Amino acid sequence: MKNNFLNKIQQSEIMYKCLNCGREVKVELKTAKKIICPYCGYRILRKTRPKVVRKVYSD
Ligand SMILES: [Zn+2]
Repeated sequence: MKNNFLNKIQQSEIMYKCLNCGREVKVELKTAKKIICPYCGYRILRKTRPKVVRKVYSD
């Protein structure tokens, strides 16, 4: 079942966006509890949905 295998991989990874430097970080669910931005070391990252590109301006 190749399709099932691929789906499993996609579901086990989440895209996060660093609130400090704005870079996107791919995080596995296993390590999602302690996320640190690999680029700047910032600890606050926000979940993003890679399939849906949506820009939200809250200012
Ligand atoms: Zn960062």
